[in-house]
Amino acid sequence: LLLVHLALHYVIASVIIVTYYKKPVFIHQGYMQWLWDVDGRRYLDLFAGVATVSVGHCHPKVTAAAEQQLKKLWHTTNIYVYPTLHEYCEKLASHFPDPLKVIYLTNSGSEANDLAILMARLHTGNYDIISLRGSYHGGSPQTIGLTSNAAYKYPVASGFGCTNTMCPDVFRGPWGGSHCRDSPVQTIRECTCAQGHCMANQQYIAQLKETFATSVPNKIAAFFGEPIQGVGGAVQYPKNYLKEAYKLVREQGGICVADEVQTGFGRTGSHFWGFQGHDVIPDMVTMAKGIGNGFPMGAVVTTPEIAASFSKGLHFNTFGGNPLACAVASSVLDTIREDDTQQNSLRVGTYLITELAKLRDKYEIIGDVRGKGLQIGVEMVRDKTFRIKPPMCITKEDADFFVAVFDKSVRNYMEKR
Ligand code: PMP
Repeated sequence: LLLVHLALHYVIASVIIVTYYKKPVFIHQGYMQWLWDVDGRRYLDLFAGVATVSVGHCHPKVTAAAEQQLKKLWHTTNIYVYPTLHEYCEKLASHFPDPLKVIYLTNSGSEANDLAILMARLHTGNYDIISLRGSYHGGSPQTIGLTSNAAYKYPVASGFGCTNTMCPDVFRGPWGGSHCRDSPVQTIRECTCAQGHCMANQQYIAQLKETFATSVPNKIAAFFGEPIQGVGGAVQYPKNYLKEAYKLVREQGGICVADEVQTGFGRTGSHFWGFQGHDVIPDMVTMAKGIGNGFPMGAVVTTPEIAASFSKGLHFNTFGGNPLACAVASSVLDTIREDDTQQNSLRVGTYLITELAKLRDKYEIIGDVRGKGLQIGVEMVRDKTFRIKPPMCITKEDADFFVAVFDKSVRNYMEKR
């Protein structure tokens, strides 16, 4: 307890610490899917530092790569070219379809999205950006504007709210009780619930058209969408929504950005990138979190044409993609391949979703179970989403352990009510 008090005295008690945890857990060690607190208790990690630890805490291969680079070179800035930068960008680019081949490295998802906004505006000559309700795109002043989630807005002078980023009213859902359960477990597609918070695709597309007609006619620079909304609660779009939205945006002269900060690097199981599950190719992809397995890093990938517009001015990022970051991220990509991490995400994630769906049918307070791979949301009625996004090395036995503990916790809760 003393430790708790001492530490919090010197750390800004952010909304997250204060709201979520009455008594913070002091974690001091991790290995693969496991964490240990200062008292030696072991925890199965089902959150991975918000979908960040992709291949496992202190994964031996990634740790070895970091150690090797630590002794060689840490930092130069992007004024110089260093082999790890070139090698890593080439390796990362090989994971993208044409024409997405040009990369700029940053330190975080917010920075990546900030840069994407800048590039989109430079390239199109337009200003307005559209994001979706329920979205989260970052904590920098610009990306707070993109983020629609009200919990992350502050009572400060206007300019960074939804009002200047035109959030179409999309995708709060699909908790809505039993009438929403008719939809397949993994999607809210075409769910027309009575309350109207899960509408059919055409209604969402109509809203987007309306936004163009009334707010941003021919002025759009970019449309941002997470392939599956992460912070919003593992929310999936109706079938074809992104495909139709991309078409509309491009007709209006805007470019389409996929925010893969949570969904990238195989987390959704069936594909390496979330956008691939929507049959679209974005003009720009932003990423972070899983890219570095916990090492602060982010990236923007785009087309040579859009990247060329970016050369109109200087853009400097002191730490973005430094030699250490590149060595770590390169090893993460190798490890995803060698450990078959994406396949594990698909296998264990699909199993977990099936098992959790059984609990949904058993307990009334579980309104919905949704997601893909190891990007899973369990909607507890009364507007709470329980998000599961573990290191992608968890096993079927870990999934069984979790489902049993969760089952017991919900049962206890129900009995006490
Ligand atoms: N985009 C998405 C989809 C995210 O989930 C997050 C972080 N939760 C961000 C962007 C911002 O990333 P960062 O916290 O690294 O700035």
